[in-house]
Amino acid sequence: MFDHPSFDQHERVLFAHDAATGLRAIVAVHSSARGPAAGGCRFWHYNSSHDAIADALRLSRGMSYKNAMAGLPLGGGKAVVMVDAERPKTPAMLEAFGRFVESLQGQYITAEDVGASVADMEIVAGQTRYVSGLPRTAVSSDGNPSPKTALGVYLGIKAAVKFRLKKDELRDLTVAVQGLGGVGYELCKLLAADGAKLRIADVREAVTQKAAAQFDAVVSSPDRVLFERADVIAPCALGALFDANTIPKLQTPIVAGAANNQLATAQDGARLHAAGVLYAPDYVINAGGIISVGREYLGGATAESIVAEIHRIPVRLTEIFARSSATNRPTSELADEMARQLLAEAR
Ligand code: NAD
Repeated sequence: MFDHPSFDQHERVLFAHDAATGLRAIVAVHSSARGPAAGGCRFWHYNSSHDAIADALRLSRGMSYKNAMAGLPLGGGKAVVMVDAERPKTPAMLEAFGRFVESLQGQYITAEDVGASVADMEIVAGQTRYVSGLPRTAVSSDGNPSPKTALGVYLGIKAAVKFRLKKDELRDLTVAVQGLGGVGYELCKLLAADGAKLRIADVREAVTQKAAAQFDAVVSSPDRVLFERADVIAPCALGALFDANTIPKLQTPIVAGAANNQLATAQDGARLHAAGVLYAPDYVINAGGIISVGREYLGGATAESIVAEIHRIPVRLTEIFARSSATNRPTSELADEMARQLLAEAR
């Protein structure tokens, strides 16, 4: 573990197995310097436990950075659950996961992520108090963070367009969206309402067709959509998209989307910068969901105060873009530096 390439001073990495339900879960607590480690739980079919560990390590560090940059009094953690055909996600497995989270006594606070729904988290919450993003704590809507994440990404796209293309409006600009799930679909609604032209792709054919009809969007393929000629590329599916092979194929001035860990390695931020692509650091632009569920969990927030906090995302991004332009350094490096500084100050 300590020699793992993605290990980065994580405080704890915990493994749980429950033979009765097939649960194989990993919780990584990257930092608790700013507060209890908060971050969603991903249910995914990993090819190996090595891949699952790598995801947990990378995603939990991303949550430390995200929560710090969002100004939340929360540390960073993440859970991954390895599911497959023999060990599918079931209510019993979700309960076993809840017992695992409860055993950590609040050091880790879970929430929805890819492969998990609000309904799933209700089952988890039957076993533990340490769950955010539930309807019972929600101050608006149903506790699902995706629409709030989409709002932050939409505002971030507008900030990037203003900074790079010097345009105040999205009307007639082309935005390519990969992934039409909880976040991507909501993002399409906001973009389409502003008159943006959409190119979309998802591995789920029915959702793609529905979105194409609803938003008058052009359908692309999941593999091609990121490499379309577009004013903005918005990755809203999975991560590790941008590397030495894919970056030269980009035909966009802006990458700004919700997916976590879009860069395959830290050096790929420098590659995007060298290629002249303005990259909105993923954990800064996609913080709307954690701002919403984090504030609801912590208590004392209103629907208005949460939306006001989400409106600070484009301000933060513009600061990073301006620093990048002034110093000719990648946005990803500057954001990492700012986040590490905030963590160091909290220690
Ligand atoms: P989701 O599971 O609801 O949606 C993901 C969508 O991507 C699904 O429709 C899926 O079919 C599609 N997809 C999977 N592989 C694809 C591929 N290769 N090409 C095209 N489409 C593909 O997940 P979500 O909640 O919408 O999250 C999307 C991304 O944003 C994830 O990386 C997630 O970690 C990140 N994120 C989500 C939130 C949130 O509030 N939900 C917050 C921050 C970050």
